[in-house]
Amino acid sequence: MSEFDLIKRIQSRVKPRADVVLGIGDDAALLQVPAGQQLVVSTDTLIAGVHFPDDCAPADIGWKALAVNLSDLAAMAATPAWCTLALTLPTDDGGWLDGFLDGFLELAEQHDMQLIGGDTSRGPLSITVTVHGLVAEGRALLRSRARIGDEIWVTGTLGDAAGGLQQWRAKKLQSAKLRYRLDRPTPRVEAGIALRDLAHAAIDLSDGLAADLGHILASSGVGAEIDLGRLPTSATLHQHFPLEAERWRLQLAGGDDYELCFTAPVTQALAIEQAMAAGDTVVTAVGRIVTGHEIIFRTPEGEAYSLPSVGYDHFRSGNA
Ligand code: ADP
Ligand code: MG
Repeated sequence: MSEFDLIKRIQSRVKPRADVVLGIGDDAALLQVPAGQQLVVSTDTLIAGVHFPDDCAPADIGWKALAVNLSDLAAMAATPAWCTLALTLPTDDGGWLDGFLDGFLELAEQHDMQLIGGDTSRGPLSITVTVHGLVAEGRALLRSRARIGDEIWVTGTLGDAAGGLQQWRAKKLQSAKLRYRLDRPTPRVEAGIALRDLAHAAIDLSDGLAADLGHILASSGVGAEIDLGRLPTSATLHQHFPLEAERWRLQLAGGDDYELCFTAPVTQALAIEQAMAAGDTVVTAVGRIVTGHEIIFRTPEGEAYSLPSVGYDHFRSGNA
């Protein structure tokens, strides 16, 4: 199959949006940004063996490539609109591409997002997606707006994906539920939009709560206290990782949750619970913003707890 055939195959499956003046097929896409809206843009690359296990199904890779990008839009409270896809493929395998598009386009359609262009080349498998979202002027959620006294919230449950990854690495028993959380993260797009008027600051959890909340603290010039006993934990994670300290490590220093972490004034607590319940999103208050510049973790007994290591850095050896 030629590069042109591969592009045709992609183009034939795209669902159009009214604001796309020109999509795939010209030198560039032409898009109509509505008056009064700001364009929110984010890019993420996925590399085989680094961002997904190399036994991952093509549909799961397609899903995750878009999901991790949508998660960034969610954290900005943006409404998804358009995306581009730069694909580097080892072979011209049409079957692989079809599977990849099944996952990618399923998620795109769930969020009424149109694929408007990209690039196709040969090389070791790597996928770069750029997403474009819209938000009314000045209404995006930033990392830099956390205030002392805010409560710190997270959506969903934490640590499941990291648990799935750890089981895969150990090549032993794998929980299908944990593996699903690793391969098919749910970007919290609706939650992010619902938080526009409720939250002060937000980030999505890609590298673990410790590292990602740390970004909010650094941008906002504040510190935090986290109650370890309140971390939302799935029954499956409990069952497969019965040791508390191991669960905390997965939840704080593991990655790939793609949940939202946000801060909000205490007075918004009820409104947050109602807004999240309306979208069937579990939400949990796990701590508070305080003066300082670091995170203090507290055990259920109230003692300070220090974490062995934090987050994942592609340019440092080892991972959490
Ligand atoms: P150019 O040489 O001008 O970069 P290409 O041949 O790379 O053009 O692309 C032709 C058209 O196909 C462009 O509209 C481009 O955005 C689109 N395209 C190429 N690869 C992809 C892809 N993987 N997914 C979506 N659109 C693609
Ligand atoms: Mg090109």
